[in-house]
Amino acid sequence: MRLTPRQNEILDIVRKSQPITSEQIAHILSLSRSALRNDLSLLTMMELLEAKPNVGYSIIEKTLSSQAMDIISNLTVDTVMSVPVVLDEKKSVYDGIVTMFIEDVGTLFVVSDGYLAGVISRKDFLKNILGNSEMNSTPIGMIMTRMPNIHYSFPKESLFMAASKLINHEIDSLPVVETAIVNGMKRLKIVGRISKTSITRVFVDLINDDIGGA
Ligand code: ADP
Repeated sequence: MRLTPRQNEILDIVRKSQPITSEQIAHILSLSRSALRNDLSLLTMMELLEAKPNVGYSIIEKTLSSQAMDIISNLTVDTVMSVPVVLDEKKSVYDGIVTMFIEDVGTLFVVSDGYLAGVISRKDFLKNILGNSEMNSTPIGMIMTRMPNIHYSFPKESLFMAASKLINHEIDSLPVVETAIVNGMKRLKIVGRISKTSITRVFVDLINDDIGGA
């Protein structure tokens, strides 16, 4: 959450003269105490200010890592996921490679009857080509990593959890799925994609926002 100019001004005043009472802050800002009340209680709730009875307000100094933790631990996958590139398992290896180039992605998600069936990466294609197999007649379903060995994420999962899956399983991306029950069977509908690029973008945006908002 971005602070308003007045909230930033209050933090500056407290930082310079802490501990300081609300009357003194109001006096410096030429405001009434009641006009300040909402800002002060919000800053206290956000754990940026500490209010000590009969003493006044002082700053709770947060380390950069605890500020970053607050922001990162609140991010969910659906706020940063991108559009998935999906291909049916019957498509050929040739179609898969062309799609990868056209869509400019490193991983394709493979579906069967519209539901998640597998994942295919750059190395899967390279391995297949090195094996001299027939690119036009080999279906991607034959060379993909398939369910139930697929790691995936959910829209409301924390971004930190998704990033941990990428690191722990040494993979570049995760399909983001919603569960559907079809004819009594659990199926996964692909609704997005989380990749190492998505996570890197969050990192860069966080720093840019901070520079822009400073
Ligand atoms: P690259 O092939 O470019 O190194 P990855 O590291 O993502 O890309 O893929 C390595 C292997 O892991 C491939 O065999 C791929 O099929 C498989 N893989 C990729 N993503 C997943 C996933 N989400 N779940 C399970 N296996 C995956």
